[in-house]
Amino acid sequence: MPASAIHYCRRCGAPTARRLPDDGDTRQRDVCTACGLVHYQNPLLVVGTLPFAPDGRVLLCQRDIEPRKGLWTLPAGFMELGETLRGGALRETSEEAALEAGRHVRPGALFSVISVPQVGQVHVFYLAPLLEECLRQGLPGGFGHETRQTRLFAESQAPWPQLAFETVRLTLQHFFDDWRAGCLGVHEQELPS
Ligand SMILES: [Zn+2]
Repeated sequence: MPASAIHYCRRCGAPTARRLPDDGDTRQRDVCTACGLVHYQNPLLVVGTLPFAPDGRVLLCQRDIEPRKGLWTLPAGFMELGETLRGGALRETSEEAALEAGRHVRPGALFSVISVPQVGQVHVFYLAPLLEECLRQGLPGGFGHETRQTRLFAESQAPWPQLAFETVRLTLQHFFDDWRAGCLGVHEQELPS
């Protein structure tokens, strides 16, 4: 993915020029013509969880915002500065699915890591087993504006044609495959594969 141009310096506002920095860097960067600040651009991390019930059903969120409004996804979003990977995944799970760690889900193991270089992102999902108590009382509501509803899906009932993101589809497929095999692993891959 080519970096999109940053035309004005983030520090002083002067125009930038796309060139090799003077420090031996081998990539063209937007360098400030006045103060010399080099504007690095790096991939973003998307972090989330795969909440699942003891019977192997998976919780999905129906998106209520663009892009891909109305489609289904796992709770996930951009990691924030100051967060850990796992902390960001659990925050997104709380915001988008109203599932709190310790109360509704148990923070589980790392499950999938998928590089998507074409959009400059890496998507990371953790397992999040739903607690019995949460299932007894019904899935919590009260999630933010990003989610219309949450629901549990078995593999055969999953909304495969209505999934919002390819990384979600791959992560779900790995989960159901592993579940049938009786062992949840760790999956690292890239898109397009
Ligand atoms: Zn500058």
